[in-house]
Amino acid sequence: AVSTATVRRVTDVRPLITAADLPPARHFIDGTFAEGSTERVVDVVDPCTENVIARIPEGTAEDIDRAVSAALQAKAGWSRLVPKERSELLHAVADRLAEHTELLSRLESANTGKPLAVSTDDVGQAVDTFRFMAGAVRATTSLAAGDYVEDHLSVMLREPLGVIGVVTPWNYPLLMAAWKIAPILGAGNTLVLKPSEQTPLTTLKFAELVADLLPAGVLNVVNGYGATVGARLAEHPDVNMIALTGSVNSGRAVARAAAESLKRVHLELGGKAPVVVFEDADLAAAASALRVAGFWNSGQECGAACRVLVHESVAERFVEQLVGEVRELIVGEPAAGEDVEVGPMVSKAHFERVTGYLERAKKEGVRVAVGGGAVDGPGYFVAPTVLVDVLEGAEAAHEEIFGPVITVETFTDEEEAVRRANDVPLGLSASVWTENARRSHDIAARLDFGTVWVNSHLVLSSEVPWGGFKGSGYGRDLSIYALDDYSRTKHVMHHHGR
Ligand code: NAD
Repeated sequence: AVSTATVRRVTDVRPLITAADLPPARHFIDGTFAEGSTERVVDVVDPCTENVIARIPEGTAEDIDRAVSAALQAKAGWSRLVPKERSELLHAVADRLAEHTELLSRLESANTGKPLAVSTDDVGQAVDTFRFMAGAVRATTSLAAGDYVEDHLSVMLREPLGVIGVVTPWNYPLLMAAWKIAPILGAGNTLVLKPSEQTPLTTLKFAELVADLLPAGVLNVVNGYGATVGARLAEHPDVNMIALTGSVNSGRAVARAAAESLKRVHLELGGKAPVVVFEDADLAAAASALRVAGFWNSGQECGAACRVLVHESVAERFVEQLVGEVRELIVGEPAAGEDVEVGPMVSKAHFERVTGYLERAKKEGVRVAVGGGAVDGPGYFVAPTVLVDVLEGAEAAHEEIFGPVITVETFTDEEEAVRRANDVPLGLSASVWTENARRSHDIAARLDFGTVWVNSHLVLSSEVPWGGFKGSGYGRDLSIYALDDYSRTKHVMHHHGR
């Protein structure tokens, strides 16, 4: 373990929530909080204390089937609303969320251990996603019309897909739910959402908060495990699309299950973002940006700036500046204050996974410049870490660690930088750091990643699409591209000649 003497650790394990803050421990089906079909429950754990903070019913395939029929029933009425009506409801949802920012932030932090600054940012972004989609559905509801064959008027219509199944991860429970729910409802679909079994609280709270705003059956939430409840959603014949944010393995399982009914699949999977730093980059700016982008959400972030490739001529100087920034990070429980930047890993299993990567890296001869293991004392805390002398192909630089760990490799020229940056099976996001415009255009064009930042990392907004290439999946969240993904295009041709 890394001694607390070398980590800026603050501590306060006072509970962030009271029983009154919790949502009903039920599924949300057809507009009401419903009992499950069994008595079995899943324990929801606070990762800072390991205390059980809620017990949520473990759903079954039968619960999914009930929720899907509710969504199917609600489909006709919801899709008939004109864009203005759906838009007004999405705005009302946004307002309701915004009014409860403080409660939702505490609940999210209590369940995930994430710093309050991160939870509050998540709620703000969730609100903005609803506001953006509320506006966008009114601007992008029809495609084109015209005579493309003599005396034939073609009208291209955008239609909802129908019932959409959604599966969300534990790292941004509320925000990932919002990224799916807003465009799915905006485009006129209804949905059944399964939150991560580890972090269902803010999704259930969301359902509770908006229950009086949305027609019954439009939004349904069924709790439970991926292998049962998630799998049933993916294979259900009445579900027209399955959208999952999660790991590559879950993505494969969902795509396989969806194949039988040929339903559409929308996948936002893992990332292993390279950060390519050239010799002409503003090194101080890069180091300070990585303090945020490498450790946001305690590194449990699919776009995290986790894999530095730096030109050999500036590597030593850059590592020094980066380590200087990383040493300053404040580690602690969310209750320890607004300044906390890095919280615990979400669960014991994930903590063991992350520290396992660090142990193996050290055995492989990778040098620890700062951090390097668990933080002394209770809780699933991992010290903010920078690993240097990382050789090409090393496990730590290839696999998604999903913790507060940055690896540093060096390169000698542009060719090598691009080749090695692309040499990972995932293609979600990357960044390039250079003051040379020719170089930034050229390198960005050659990087095989869904998002490429130049002299920045991890900055997003509701207007821009988010999604990956290669093993990171397909489909886009946010932006009007998400509305497209959750719609189908119909061509109606009118013969108007005599
Ligand atoms: P996970 O794949 O273990 O779980 C994600 C969800 O999938 C959970 O709700 C889980 O119950 C469900 N699931 C698991 N197996 C399933 C199956 N066979 N059928 C249907 N559902 C199933 O992932 P996680 O550990 O919760 O989240 C971390 C992963 O998510 C990381 O790999 C991360 O990169 C990825 N992620 C990606 C994005 C993105 O936008 N690309 C955002 C956040 C997280």
